[in-house]
Amino acid sequence: MYEHILKQVEQMGDEVIAFLVRLIRLESITGNEGPIQKEIARTLEEMGLNVDLWEPNAEELKRHPICSQVESNFENRPVVVGIWAGNGSGRSLLLNGHVDVVKPGPGWSKDPFGGEIINNKVYGRGASDMKGGLAAMIMALKVLKSLNLRPTGRILLETVVDEENGINGSLAGLLRGHTADACINCEASDLDIQRAHSGIIEFFLHVYGQPTPISRKDNAVSPIDKGYRLVQAMMDLESILRVTHNHPLFPPGSMNIYVTSFHSGIQTTVLPDEAVIGGMVRMLPGMKAEETRQLVEQYVARVAAQDPFMRQRPPKFRWKGLYAESMEVSEDNPLVVCLKESFSRVTGWAPRMSGHEGACDPWVINNYGNIPTVIFGPGKITQMHAVDEYVEIKDVITATKTLALAIYKWSFNNGGTLD
Ligand SMILES: [Zn+2]
Repeated sequence: MYEHILKQVEQMGDEVIAFLVRLIRLESITGNEGPIQKEIARTLEEMGLNVDLWEPNAEELKRHPICSQVESNFENRPVVVGIWAGNGSGRSLLLNGHVDVVKPGPGWSKDPFGGEIINNKVYGRGASDMKGGLAAMIMALKVLKSLNLRPTGRILLETVVDEENGINGSLAGLLRGHTADACINCEASDLDIQRAHSGIIEFFLHVYGQPTPISRKDNAVSPIDKGYRLVQAMMDLESILRVTHNHPLFPPGSMNIYVTSFHSGIQTTVLPDEAVIGGMVRMLPGMKAEETRQLVEQYVARVAAQDPFMRQRPPKFRWKGLYAESMEVSEDNPLVVCLKESFSRVTGWAPRMSGHEGACDPWVINNYGNIPTVIFGPGKITQMHAVDEYVEIKDVITATKTLALAIYKWSFNNGGTLD
């Protein structure tokens, strides 16, 4: 059967790429996901899936503890779930991806929404992140549909909005009750099988000073001087964590503290009384947000306590904004095994296994939906949010084949061998 499926993908290869080009041409910068979602819903309906299309309820989302900041409501920004009912005897599967893209920004030599094909690459904003993945997962289902097969377990194909802002689209899917026994998220993975991703939390560190009139500088305490010392402290802590905190799926030294802003002062002729340092801390799988916060706070507090003024007026951390947990599923998880075997059948070689270096939706689905989630997609990680973003056609086809085989094995063949 598997050869039959692979041949079918070959035959439909042009259609897969034409569909990807269509998706890129539907400009879907976060906030404007309506047109692309309608097009995907129409495609899924045409394929014979039952489609659930709804606008998430911002108020309901806000009540959930992990809700990302809701920047605008979801009017004309529906989430779409295509449902292929099984006969009820097998395991269910969720395919998940986001349709929104970041703004193209300056410097493009191609039309960001043109979907140009040059040297076997498709160019456009979202080509890698992640319309290549969307095209692969939708067309993998279309291939299986064209073979007149009926799954044993239910298959859900979910395309969400607002991912570049947070996780509210996928959270809305869970709250709506769209769950399954396992999930493949088709984010850019360089065709690696990624059973983990890192998390990130954002901080603001308030550092105080003692302003004086400008003529009495010797009596002043500068929050900029104190803040500078604490930035140094955080970089020292990062050096330590890069040695003490490692994970086999991530390159050494993946534990990062980013200082990304430093604000102080109102004008040059007035001494400031406060500095606010902003940044992010990355968390490898296994690290919890609360323990990470404590680790950073305690280290900074120890350094601050060596300074007489900061001992009197200790700096204060405020943790707000970005919040994404890390996630990990085990190496012997049946979906990981299924994807590995499928990839090997398609390419003839063993897949690379790695961790996704950046937070995306899987932690919500895995940690809060209790659905083991694996990332696999054709996009290049180095192309995500890049100028002149592209995806290679051969990678989109390899992903479509791998997904078609994996879905077949999982949802039609009850995990049996791919003969
Ligand atoms: Zn993405």
